[in-house]
Amino acid sequence: MTMNNIWCVGRNYKAHALELNNPLPDRPLIFLKAGSTAVLTTSFALPEGLGEIHHECEIAVRVNGQGEPTHLGLALDLTARDEQTRLKKKGEPWTLAKSFKQACPLSPFVPFQNFLHFQGLEFQLHKNGQLVQRGFARDMIFSLQELLSYISRHFPLSDGDIILTGTPEGVGPVKNGDQLHAEIIGLLSVTWAVKAESP
Ligand code: ZN
Repeated sequence: MTMNNIWCVGRNYKAHALELNNPLPDRPLIFLKAGSTAVLTTSFALPEGLGEIHHECEIAVRVNGQGEPTHLGLALDLTARDEQTRLKKKGEPWTLAKSFKQACPLSPFVPFQNFLHFQGLEFQLHKNGQLVQRGFARDMIFSLQELLSYISRHFPLSDGDIILTGTPEGVGPVKNGDQLHAEIIGLLSVTWAVKAESP
């Protein structure tokens, strides 16, 4: 677990915004997951009583206090979709839908190389052996540079904070017993088991 903040970007891939019938943003849509939602082990448990939980596979960027990227990894921005839909309708904050216990499984991180390398990244999520999400960093509506500039202008970043850069299309439900395998092609991979009880 980390005490660092996890800054998340919503609707940063066009096809994903459209699959949830959301308008495209004209500036980055930022929300928080508490740092204590981070899961650094290879299994996690789903919350009770929050309805359907969706996977959102995203490139995670660890930054320093100046908002410069230092490391790259993958995250599951787990989302209680029914709750989120209810909260959105009422205009209420998303915290219950996004920041429940174990809501942010993280892969191991590797050193950040450079923005050109980042721009070429492809990442995938397989659920029980089946490809469910596939994203290309170059398809982000707001580039990593634009996100870092916006986030560091408005928010107090600390060394070790993590930025989730948005999910591509293909989000869907996670169930107990599922196995999720996420990969940045040629760079890193992680496999998570979804357990009925806390690991
Ligand atoms: Zn997300």
